[in-house]
Amino acid sequence: MRLVGETAVYGLEVGPDTRCEHYRSERDVVAFQFACCERYYPCFRCHAAVADHDAVGWPEARFDEPSVLCGACGTTLTAPEYLDSDSRCPACEASFNPGCKDHLEHYLER
Ligand SMILES: [Zn+2]
Ligand SMILES: [Zn+2]
Ligand SMILES: [Zn+2]
Repeated sequence: MRLVGETAVYGLEVGPDTRCEHYRSERDVVAFQFACCERYYPCFRCHAAVADHDAVGWPEARFDEPSVLCGACGTTLTAPEYLDSDSRCPACEASFNPGCKDHLEHYLER
């Protein structure tokens, strides 16, 4: 586990800005909270590696609660804030990997 800002992030080789063993490019600085355990992971593969249960993405009914962490500044965003961010943190303007949006079925239950 690593603290990023005030948020605990779980996974494999989690770096100080939420890069992990699987996704470590310049822009891989987002972690997602999973509803099953209410823990943040850098990616769904990290959840699969270290959690002892199946992953459940963040449900639309809770989209008013923060569930996306910017690893660059430690700000937590709601899913709609993240989706509307144009792959850029609204707080610190760090670039997010737009490829994450191809995997949103792992992170969001819609
Ligand atoms: Zn979980
Ligand atoms: Zn990972
Ligand atoms: Zn940020």
